[in-house]
Amino acid sequence: HADVVPQAPEDPLFGLMAAFRKDTFENKVDLGIGAYRDNNAKPWVLPVVKKADEILRSDPNLNHEYLPIAGLQEFTSASQKLILGADSPAIKERRVTSLQTISGTGAVHLGALFLSKFYHPNTKRAVYFSNPTWVNHHQIFSNVHLPHHTYPYFSKKTKGLDFEGMIESIENAPEGSIILLHACAHNPTGVDPTQDQWKEICKVMQAKKHFPFFDCAYQGFASGDLNKDAWAVRYFIDQGFELCIAQSYAKNFGLYGERAGCFHFVTGPSPDAENIISRIASQLAILQRSEISNPPAYGARIASLVLNDAELFAEWEDNLRTMSGRIIDMRRTLRSKLEEMGTPGTWNHITDQIGMFSFTGLTEKQVLKIREDAHVYMTKNGRISMAGLNTHNIEYFAKAVDKVIRE
Ligand code: PMP
Repeated sequence: HADVVPQAPEDPLFGLMAAFRKDTFENKVDLGIGAYRDNNAKPWVLPVVKKADEILRSDPNLNHEYLPIAGLQEFTSASQKLILGADSPAIKERRVTSLQTISGTGAVHLGALFLSKFYHPNTKRAVYFSNPTWVNHHQIFSNVHLPHHTYPYFSKKTKGLDFEGMIESIENAPEGSIILLHACAHNPTGVDPTQDQWKEICKVMQAKKHFPFFDCAYQGFASGDLNKDAWAVRYFIDQGFELCIAQSYAKNFGLYGERAGCFHFVTGPSPDAENIISRIASQLAILQRSEISNPPAYGARIASLVLNDAELFAEWEDNLRTMSGRIIDMRRTLRSKLEEMGTPGTWNHITDQIGMFSFTGLTEKQVLKIREDAHVYMTKNGRISMAGLNTHNIEYFAKAVDKVIRE
């Protein structure tokens, strides 16, 4: 009977968005949502996306037929090159298989589902997430009945990486565990390992035969440099790992609602690699077919057009620098305003952290107070979306932070 269904809690982030919309205060500030905003707090359609959209719409042959199960081939192959590098040995040796997915979320789900069925199916291995991580990771892996644990990640003391805690925990995880890693611009903390730290993580994971699952939602959006943001993934592949990657085009193309993403499975180098990958591809296709039949076309067409055209690609890189540059600017300004006011505490973490989010260090109590007093909306863990700040509201926000900390 339907009356056994209990009421589920509201999604905290979507609840926060609803509360913001209801607030009638003129100078309210939305720092909750993880979507880029321009300097006037408005959504930004990337000029290159507008251009691609116009090209597509003017094509008289454009139709609304189904895509293949694995998605648009030009899109998935360009996506491989983007994340792995055009000259990746994994691509040359044909040991990668890729499927277009319902954005990054769908890619994480497809990977989780695949691993739950085929990764040590008789002695299920657990997946380890950073603490904290994108909250949806917990739900996605629970849904496919994979046990999950966390490894320490964020140090409250330094507001940076708890590297020792992370390494120790990965070292102590049972051999062959799945370790979920954020490829760059960790959500929600904005804290990434350095390249030397990535090398250490890699070494420990190799010794323990762990399986890396990279979630890559911010390539190019974090630093403005597509290659730099893909460094960790490529390094792991160079070390011979078998791994998978969930790739999202929501942030870096501003294609949030179009749900363009890709899932990649890469096997290690071996004489049989091509065969192995072909078997994996065949199973992934069955999973995809039963879940979504085939992915949505429009967003992938836009991304594909840009990824496969040198001129549009260069324009996209320029658009990426506009977004990441504005965010980096806001980080600098916020830090210097807080330091100028002598706001108690240290503020270097604001500029040390990278990408869409910053973990301010504000407590839940302070978060609720700043919402009540100043109409500034952020998640209870003190995370702010840097893209919600702009030259019109940053002074107001810095003063509100200063006030709540001194209270
Ligand atoms: N992983 C991480 C870490 C994210 O931050 C996000 C976006 N919030 C996603 C995956 C997936 O987002 P989408 O499904 O919109 O691509």
